[in-house]
Amino acid sequence: MKRLLEEKDAFHDKCRERGLKLTPQRLAIYEAMRYSKEHPSIDMVYQKIKKKFPRISFDTVYRTLITLCDIGLVKPVEGYGYTRRFDPNTGQHHHFHCVKCQKIVDFYDQTYDRLTAPSKIAPGYKILSKKVVVEGLCPDCS
Ligand SMILES: [Zn+2]
Ligand SMILES: [Zn+2]
Repeated sequence: MKRLLEEKDAFHDKCRERGLKLTPQRLAIYEAMRYSKEHPSIDMVYQKIKKKFPRISFDTVYRTLITLCDIGLVKPVEGYGYTRRFDPNTGQHHHFHCVKCQKIVDFYDQTYDRLTAPSKIAPGYKILSKKVVVEGLCPDCS
């Protein structure tokens, strides 16, 4: 409970810093994201939030997710098919992507963390982060 309150405060501080109003809808969207392990799409978040706020629009959920990305509390997940997905885990980690059910699972691996940029791009490009994506079938699909 204490952790939850602290996170609420962190979100509150971020919003205040950026001059954003902390609405119950925004907080609910943040909380739905924060504890999600499934790298949800906008629609998945929308379906969840709609149960609590039946009148919320898809567009509000969309814009709030973009705002959460802007203030660094959520990261957009790149390159997994046609639907944009979002990740509350903003730290260094890697993904397993199931090409059948589209599940994205986080994993941590120090060998992958230590990968260096290929010498072909090393001189001109500054690497800020690395993410390894392993694609295949999850245990449910294989
Ligand atoms: Zn699967
Ligand atoms: Zn992730």
